[in-house]
Amino acid sequence: METPRLPRIGDYLDHFAEVQSDTVLVKQGPTAVTYREGRERVDRLAAALLAHGLRHGDRVAVYGHPDSDALLVFLACARVGAIFTGLAPKQQVDELAYICTQAEPRFLFVVGAIVAEQLEKIAALGSRLDREGKIGTVETIHCGADAPPGCLSLEQFEAEATDPEQLAAAAAAVEALDPAAVVFTSGSSGAPKAALLVHGPMMRSYSVQAEHWYGRRPVGVADLPINHLGFVADNCMTLMVAGGTINVLERWTPEGVLELLEAERFTFWWTQTTMLLLATRSPRWARTDFGSLERIAFGGAPVNPSMLEALAATGASLSSGYGMTEVHGNITYTDNDAPAEALLHTVGRPHHEFEVRIVDEEGEPCPAGTVGEIVARTDTLFGGYRDRAGAVDPGRDEEGWYHTKDTAFEREDGNFVLVGRKDHMFKSGGFNVYPREVERVLESHPDVSIAVVVDVPDPTWARVGHAYVVPEPDRDLAAEDLDQFARERLANYKVPKRLHLREELPMLISGKVDSRALQRESEALVEG
Ligand code: AMP
Repeated sequence: METPRLPRIGDYLDHFAEVQSDTVLVKQGPTAVTYREGRERVDRLAAALLAHGLRHGDRVAVYGHPDSDALLVFLACARVGAIFTGLAPKQQVDELAYICTQAEPRFLFVVGAIVAEQLEKIAALGSRLDREGKIGTVETIHCGADAPPGCLSLEQFEAEATDPEQLAAAAAAVEALDPAAVVFTSGSSGAPKAALLVHGPMMRSYSVQAEHWYGRRPVGVADLPINHLGFVADNCMTLMVAGGTINVLERWTPEGVLELLEAERFTFWWTQTTMLLLATRSPRWARTDFGSLERIAFGGAPVNPSMLEALAATGASLSSGYGMTEVHGNITYTDNDAPAEALLHTVGRPHHEFEVRIVDEEGEPCPAGTVGEIVARTDTLFGGYRDRAGAVDPGRDEEGWYHTKDTAFEREDGNFVLVGRKDHMFKSGGFNVYPREVERVLESHPDVSIAVVVDVPDPTWARVGHAYVVPEPDRDLAAEDLDQFARERLANYKVPKRLHLREELPMLISGKVDSRALQRESEALVEG
């Protein structure tokens, strides 16, 4: 079913506030806000931001757990051309300070209930920024009840006289290619970069997704942290683009998401693979009524067979895809009737509305079966990386291709198989090793749930792999057996020199495994 194709984020809010005004836009606990109420609240807040001196292109930071107020602030920013940036309580003061010195926000909104420890963090952040003189005075507004000292309450903030004409003029000046948010890429490899998410391309990406996966009025969840693409974009805009209902879950737990799914009768559930894996392992899984669920979609990391079995037993259609912040979501999708084999081994095929190909070092398309880099040229591309001086690097080559640095090959059936990261290939004894290829072999062992391979210096081979492996629950996996299994399937230089069996792995707040932490651990081991 077609979703409207509109140029700006605010146009979707206006559209659904007209055509389905009483549909719930966002629900958190007992509080539900309809599209009509949402538009009113967004306009009130947007007008207050202008009254407090906000100008087109200014940044607005929001600190907190996933929260309906974070969504409303994001929409208010979008309404008047300001740029949202999220800060998550799990981030440390250093990380928050890095983001603020890059983004230079004029306002800081604090959403949800805040505990003393967080207040200290916000205060430490404020004094750090003042001391370093990186940004001017930042007005702090608390959206929940009982604003702490030094913060305005939302009511006080909105009490400033507002001017409807000023709001109308600011809203009219917003363009489809204006940035709506700045997110700092997840940092599973390399230093975080400030990626600009853009109105039109973002909503374009999500309308393609909506048409492929769920059509109109999906009911789903927003549970990803607010500091990356996850919450405002992947969770909220994917549902809003189709007039859907967003159920906010402040603190993700496997049980919490399953309870909400059942109570609110989700029709669509998109989540990071690693979070889905934890949910399938929860004792609550077997007691959950999945009757309302039409589709489960996952991405960000590969699935394993036992997890796929649990997902299939819900009766929902299963889908996955491949994408990234820089293209506002997916560029490949599995077929809607994809067999388990394709869900397990591939990330589907390029969506027919996008140009996506696999190329060699010279930029020439690779034949099927040959590994190369995935490049994409789509009208869903982000606005580039922004540096502190405000300069923007579009991150594309002269022909407009965005180079993903992900390596893959195309199968004869057109599906793409991810191999690894171009910059995450290491040479062992002169041979190229792609960690993902090794992980895939380890994960094909029936007792293995997740495998992560990192590389460390070696006096003989230059670099060698170390593997961190999480066994399937209640399985008696011996490292020697797994080593033998790998030796039977991989060239000797690819076989990890050490296998660490772990009950769990360190995670990034984006829901992905923190492979850099494992890398550091392994390096410390070989150095020690
Ligand atoms: P992010 O921008 O944080 O969403 O990360 C994007 C990266 O996640 C991509 O460049 C891939 O390396 C990885 N990725 C995305 N989709 C998948 C998938 N379905 N399976 C495995 N890795 C994926």
